[in-house]
Amino acid sequence: MFQKILIANRGEIALRVLRAAKELGIQTVVVHSTADADAMHVRLADESVCIGPPPSRDSYLNIHQIVAACEITGADAVHPGYGFLSENAKFADILAAHNITFIGPSGDHIRVMGDKIEAKRTAKRLGIPVVPGSEGAVSDEGEAKRIAADIGYPVIIKASAGGGGRGMKVARTEQDLIQALQTASSEAGAAFGNSEVYIEKFLEKPRHIEIQVFGDGAGKGIHLGERDCSLQRRHQKVWEEANSPALNEEQRTRIGETCARAIADLGYSGAGTIEFLYEDGEFYFIEMNTRLQVEHPVTEAITGIDLVHEQIRVASGGGLSVRQDEVRFQGHAIECRINAEDPRTFTPSPGTITHFHTPGGLGIRVDSGVYSGYRIPPYYDSLIGKLIVHGRNRVECMMRLRRALDEFVVDGIKTTLPLFRDLVGNPDIANGDYDIHWLEKHLAETV
Ligand code: ADP
Repeated sequence: MFQKILIANRGEIALRVLRAAKELGIQTVVVHSTADADAMHVRLADESVCIGPPPSRDSYLNIHQIVAACEITGADAVHPGYGFLSENAKFADILAAHNITFIGPSGDHIRVMGDKIEAKRTAKRLGIPVVPGSEGAVSDEGEAKRIAADIGYPVIIKASAGGGGRGMKVARTEQDLIQALQTASSEAGAAFGNSEVYIEKFLEKPRHIEIQVFGDGAGKGIHLGERDCSLQRRHQKVWEEANSPALNEEQRTRIGETCARAIADLGYSGAGTIEFLYEDGEFYFIEMNTRLQVEHPVTEAITGIDLVHEQIRVASGGGLSVRQDEVRFQGHAIECRINAEDPRTFTPSPGTITHFHTPGGLGIRVDSGVYSGYRIPPYYDSLIGKLIVHGRNRVECMMRLRRALDEFVVDGIKTTLPLFRDLVGNPDIANGDYDIHWLEKHLAETV
């Protein structure tokens, strides 16, 4: 087992990882920017190292400084959290070259999944169902027209290096197609320095359903069920639940087993998420994330498995603590992402939290690094906490969520709490009847 883990992240996820390391009796080091000197994870860590000024590129994305912090403190492993360097293959490779364990998959697996065309090709080879579309990059107009005609309109043009929903264009007719191809390609070039694009069938009303997987790096793979993350705004997840209200047990087992087998065949190590669009009973792979997800606690709630413990075990060579036949799905869990944002316009609302009171009671978990008197710095994302609620079934979970939202107090800044109080009372949400467009439509209708 590791002696000392360095946590290369900030906010709630830094605290989340710190807690897991403490439970396992591992020493913790955190790195932080000057803007985060007062953060909770800095206070609670055994050691902390300031690695630079507020901008991420000078601190949380500064590989050189983070490696130096490992050397100075004698950390033998790094947990990257999510975002920042968590899917940076070069970072994983550099750590390996310094004999420091990256708590995550190999640089090569990160690289494959970071290129969307390569990821899709790999998924298909491993028997994972993919969205019909071009076999690879498309640049020629004639070829684009042939492919689109073949799969049928509407189609979507996506950037190979895409991320965060950028560089995507929908074409409903052949007339739209050429324009969409050019716009997507030039946007991708500007945003990612890679103008390669590919074509997919555009699904009109899918749900976003993702499968949590784990590999031990030695040919074993398991799945921990799915999460439904269809409630999104601008491709950002807002509310996530497990299980999905749309799947039955047979469907869950079938797609889960397909993913577990793929992970085993790939020789993948650590946590991963295979994301799908789901429509009319069919799954269509869109991408794989090679890290812990923001929404991992809903999976923890229904399986009772600590995903960060598991990541640390696997990275240290200790293998997985559970076999597939030992995994049980119990009850239902929902996560709400509490952002420091105006609940209507979603503009960031940094500032000082004058009062912070979290709900409690059976089935309630709050993952947050903030506290009364904490000043939210304006430099990073606006997530200030996650409310995760568990119940024996979805109805009980929703009742408990409604009560927990009533108890939650965040004064001094604006938050998205009012949005969740609205959603929890909505009949469509109560019925689990929503797709990936539902939230944006709802927001447009309730101005
Ligand atoms: P990114 O890496 O930029 O997040 P994804 O491939 O994960 O890109 O897609 C982001 C979102 O774009 C999806 O969650 C979905 O809302 C939409 N999307 C992507 N591909 C399709 C498709 N083939 N049909 C319909 N919507 C799609």
